[in-house]
Amino acid sequence: MKISVVGTGYVGLVTGTCFAETGNYVTCIDIDKEKVDCLRQGQVPIYEPGLDVIFERNQREGRLTFTTDLAGGIKSSSVIFLALPTPPNEDGSADLNYVIDVAEQLGSLISEYTIIVNKSTVPVGTTELVRNAISEKTQIEFDVVSNPEFLREGVAVDDFMKPDRVVIGTSSEKAAEIMRELYAPLVRQGNPVLVMDEKSAEMTKYAANSFLATKITFMNEVANLCEILGADVDMVRKGIGTDNRIGKRFLFAGIGYGGSCFPKDVQALAKTASQANYDFKILNSVMSVNEKQKIKLIEKIKAYFNYDLKGKTFAVWGLAFKPYTDDIREAPSLANIRELINEGARIKAYDPEAAENVKKLSMPQVRVCEDEYEALRDADALLIITEWPVFRTPEFGRMKQLLKNDVIFDGRNLYDLDTMRKYGFNYISIGRKEIHE
Ligand code: NAD
Repeated sequence: MKISVVGTGYVGLVTGTCFAETGNYVTCIDIDKEKVDCLRQGQVPIYEPGLDVIFERNQREGRLTFTTDLAGGIKSSSVIFLALPTPPNEDGSADLNYVIDVAEQLGSLISEYTIIVNKSTVPVGTTELVRNAISEKTQIEFDVVSNPEFLREGVAVDDFMKPDRVVIGTSSEKAAEIMRELYAPLVRQGNPVLVMDEKSAEMTKYAANSFLATKITFMNEVANLCEILGADVDMVRKGIGTDNRIGKRFLFAGIGYGGSCFPKDVQALAKTASQANYDFKILNSVMSVNEKQKIKLIEKIKAYFNYDLKGKTFAVWGLAFKPYTDDIREAPSLANIRELINEGARIKAYDPEAAENVKKLSMPQVRVCEDEYEALRDADALLIITEWPVFRTPEFGRMKQLLKNDVIFDGRNLYDLDTMRKYGFNYISIGRKEIHE
């Protein structure tokens, strides 16, 4: 099939590359000329494990091309995916301007039956808005399909190639058939392609992300109470995760969720609810708990240093909003760094992949280091923000030598309490006993 993808970011590039891998001819379109030039030269502008290999193969074999020209890029495509940003407006609702703007342009450009597939995360009712925007500009037959994307950054290629399920929102049997055909190679093991009405498809994406954010937040609240009562959240996690009805995943307490999706999607669903005069109480609590949780360690850091952080240096391990990505959008690292800087502290930070993106923010008080040990040298304390595997089994002896004070504030509960005692660290984590040597 000849397909196009409009918007070549984390979702669009993975979508385009993976569909090329299954034999389709894909043109990826983006307005960012620098990004398109870089892709044309064979460079993948984001870090996503496994993407570079299939990108290279499909580009070499001529199935994957890039352009800034929407009209040329969609020519003779039977399916056009929209993977455009839907950032939050000031009031929390999703900004649909990118999507509607491209839809209007497509209305003037399509010249035969085309399926326009929305992969961006959009509120219930957007498929209809897209349909109206296109039909105002054309008499040609077309269908608009809602096909929310569930890939996770860091494992996006795997998620795309082997999705738990594919959700297709449409009332057009013709469009559903073509979509089933396109996805068939990805669901050979029998994972379902769920065809449903478009509103339910749109809602499914928000409900999934909001549920996951709620699960994380619930566990963070349990952790906070564990701290007060002297219980250990790690034990509690194991105790409840073995219950099949609860499941083991998304139960790790920490310093909250971040990233480009959970925060904005929870906000957008809450806004959709309030616009429909429904008070979605849980979501409002999830948002306010998570805001506090992100900077939960700051209060403990301040207390440890007698409320005087002026001139102190903090090593920060982990800048990406989660491991295996270079994405720092809404990353808890930035919230913590800002708080520390406001208190007069300096930062020495390390991240295996997100360093370059942080350098672009030009924060004079933040020095981005080449490795995790360099960040520790002469720092007053270590703050662990992202659970990159490389931080899980460090050389503790070396860490003690490099740090000025033997104190670790761990926002991801990476270390065993006994190990910390053995090495003589002061160790403050989430929902567990503090160790003061
Ligand atoms: P992104 O910012 O990484 O990519 C969006 C791309 O669209 C950018 O490259 C931008 O230059 C381009 N763009 C903007 N306007 C354009 C236009 N008029 N024409 C062509 N290109 C244009 O965003 P993303 O993370 O890929 O997210 C895209 C959508 O997918 C969002 O709605 C998001 O909520 C959703 N989503 C994201 C993820 C994720 O993990 N990132 C997962 C599932 C769903």
